This record gives sequence, structure tokens and C-alpha cells, in this order.
Amino acid sequence: MVQEAVASLDEKEIADRTLSDLLFPLLTELSRPSRVTWRNDLGAETGGKPFAYKPLGKGARRIPLRLVLDEADPKVQPVGGYYNDSRHEIVLIVRHNPTVADIRETLFHEGIHLALAIMRSQGKAALGDEHDPAIESLDRAINKSTAIADMKNRLELLRRDLNISRKQRSLADVPATTTDTVAPELWEEAVVFAATSYLKLLRVVGTDEHAQADYFTFDTMKLYLEHYGFMTKADLGALTEEETKRIELLKTQTPIAAIP
Ligand SMILES: [Zn+2]
Repeated sequence: MVQEAVASLDEKEIADRTLSDLLFPLLTELSRPSRVTWRNDLGAETGGKPFAYKPLGKGARRIPLRLVLDEADPKVQPVGGYYNDSRHEIVLIVRHNPTVADIRETLFHEGIHLALAIMRSQGKAALGDEHDPAIESLDRAINKSTAIADMKNRLELLRRDLNISRKQRSLADVPATTTDTVAPELWEEAVVFAATSYLKLLRVVGTDEHAQADYFTFDTMKLYLEHYGFMTKADLGALTEEETKRIELLKTQTPIAAIP
């Protein structure tokens, strides 16, 4: 019984410190077999019906959400999952998520993207209690303007080297506006990585398990540069020494710094 009490305390700790109190009931609802949509590697869908999700905050508006289990070829779809705000979908790339822990972390990760989308469209009050420390820290992290400006500067240096390489390959320049749109997206990834790492660390406190914080690696940074359309597969296949250095510098923007 003591163990049970401790375990429940631990769960409460996790709920208080992360957005799991917001996300777990939602993810439970979305993952019911009758609701889930399967998408095969050709894009054809079977099953599923949207869930009209109402965030916890006062006056929050309902959003029709779906969970899509996508059987895409991992070589074609480089990331483990994504949240598509315009289609109201959390997408899990099944073949990138072989274990229960992988699935839990990917769903949590995409759930944080969803929470950030709600924050943008409805304001942070829509997410829940205004004094919730998890909402507060997410809000502060995502709006950290110095970090976004820093990310933009580093990305701009990469863009210039990328365009030198693209010119040699007779390809059109990547315009400066791409830096402006992609920098906040990469910063959002850093924040979501931090929030997901924090969940992993909290879950193993007091157990024999070990968890490591996830940092952007050179390879994950390349995946996101492709996912957000900053570079193509061909660009990444023809990396020059300068570009490699610039990408290395992007990843040193460590995610834990996102937590104020
Ligand atoms: Zn993400």
C-alpha cells in the first residue's frame, strides 16, 4: 500500500509538472480502436472518426481531432510522427515506433505540438488553469525571443552556405524568407524535445530505470531541416564541409535551455 501511495504521488507529480493531465485523457480517447485511422503506405485511409476535443481551460473551443497510424516507409517519411494543425491530426509513423515507450514518447511529443497550436489559436488560458506551472513554462519557453533570434542567425548562416552549394548544382536559391518561417519551427522542436525529455526523466525517478535527456543530434537536425522544407534530400546528400559545420552549430542550441 505504501508503494501504491508512492506510485500515485509520483503520477501526481508528473501530472503537475507536465501537460500529461491535459494530454493523457485526450490520447486515451483518440487511441480507442473505433476512433483510430489507419493510413497505408500509399496514403489510403481506413476507419476512424474525429473526436471533438475540448481543452480544459475556461471558454476553450472544441477541435475535431484524429489519431492517424501511418504505415509510411520510414525512408520516405523521416520523422517518427507529426501534428498537422490544418488537418487536426496527430500522426504516428508506425514503423518508426517499435516499442511501447517509443509510442508513448511520440504521442506525448505530438501532443505538446497540439498544445502549442491551441495556445496560438485560442490563447494559453484555453489549455487550463492559468497558474499551471507546466503551461507557464511552455508559454515562456516558446516565446523566448532571444532564443528564436539566435536560431534565426544560425539558420541564416546555413542558408548562405547552402545556396553556394545549390548554385554549384545549378539549383535555385533558398530565399531568405525560408529562414524566417523555419527558425520558429526548429525552436518549437527544441521546446517540445525538452518537454518530452522532462516527462521521460520524471517517469523514472524512484525506479531502477534510467532515462537520458534527448538532445538534437546531427542526424535529428537533418531530419527536421528536411521535414520543414529547409533542405531537400538531395541537398542533404551533397553536404559540403561548411554546411556540415553550420548544422553542427544549429544543434548546439540544446533543448534543455528551453526550460526557463
Ligand atoms: Zn516535433
